[in-house]
Amino acid sequence: MKAAQFETHEPDTVEEAVSLLESLDDRAILAGGQSMVPMLRFRLAVPETVIDINCIDGLDYLEEEDGWLRIGALTRHADVEESALIDERYGSFADTAPLVADPQIRNRGTVAGAIAQADPKGDWGSVVLAHEGEVVAQGPDGERVIPAEDFFLLPYDTTLDENELITEIRVPTPAPREGSAYHKLKRKVGDYAMAGSAARLVLDEDGRIENAAIGLTAVDITNVRATDAEDHLEGERPGSEVFKRAGELAAEQSNPESDEHGDAGYKERMVNVLTQRALGDAAERAGLVKRRVSQ
Ligand SMILES: Cc1cc2nc3c(=O)[nH]c(=O)nc-3n(C[C@H](O)[C@H](O)[C@H](O)COP(=O)(O)OP(=O)(O)OC[C@H]3O[C@@H](n4cnc5c(N)ncnc54)[C@H](O)[C@@H]3O)c2cc1C
Repeated sequence: MKAAQFETHEPDTVEEAVSLLESLDDRAILAGGQSMVPMLRFRLAVPETVIDINCIDGLDYLEEEDGWLRIGALTRHADVEESALIDERYGSFADTAPLVADPQIRNRGTVAGAIAQADPKGDWGSVVLAHEGEVVAQGPDGERVIPAEDFFLLPYDTTLDENELITEIRVPTPAPREGSAYHKLKRKVGDYAMAGSAARLVLDEDGRIENAAIGLTAVDITNVRATDAEDHLEGERPGSEVFKRAGELAAEQSNPESDEHGDAGYKERMVNVLTQRALGDAAERAGLVKRRVSQ
């Protein structure tokens, strides 16, 4: 199937893009196009106008500034995958980037586009939730910062206003004794997750868990936090027993659906296992022992 006809605008600035969003009725934003182009081709999206943001300068950054890891709206999955900063300091991001889709999609698709797409099977939503991150949006009335926690509403639906453009995804820079990790189960390389778990742990000086955050993929209507598991972990010493109970609680709190890839019970068991693995890696990394997860 071919896409229906549409006009294209290529704004040079964020302001121009926002003004187009405001003035045009039936329009869609195009970033990496890895979700948008298939939607256009299958006529799941039939906008009169496509606003291609790829000509906007200065949105393809990945840097630490003022206590934040800032990821610009045109930063590709591959930029994250290749970043020395990510490799050095952000375990869950380093784990996730090579697990997103395939190299072709990673070269074009953007982290912000994936967050905007709000696919519950998307990996980045869980990672940004586990890092208690934020979505920075620009609209006609200026900038708005939306905590990731408040961003995802339903599959493919978010609290982003229709006239807003995401300019940045950001997460706090790591605290001392912080570690994070992401584990994902998929049928084969290039697939979306059947289930995934992102975990971030901050240890206190005594080695106890001061802060725990867990984001789950593909097991609810959006990426979600496993808050019962987080509550169980806080104040405890990291270890296999405490992680085992956290895995069970994450599984109990998840709401997967049975489909052709597996029944709901199987996916719940996978949430348990993946969460325990992510917590184990996060704890190791919080102790400054570096270990990469193999695909
Ligand atoms: C075969 C296949 C496999 C995939 N596997 C995975 C996977 O394993 N894990 C995973 O996480 N993802 C996966 N994806 C999705 C991939 O990550 C896409 O890159 C991502 O969903 C969209 O990013 P994009 O930059 O291509 O956005 P686009 O396709 O350009 O846009 C996606 C949506 O977001 C909106 N949008 C984009 N940027 C902005 C912005 N700055 N502000 C506001 N709205 C915006 C668009 O209007 C559109 O509605 C897969 C995709 C495909 C086609």
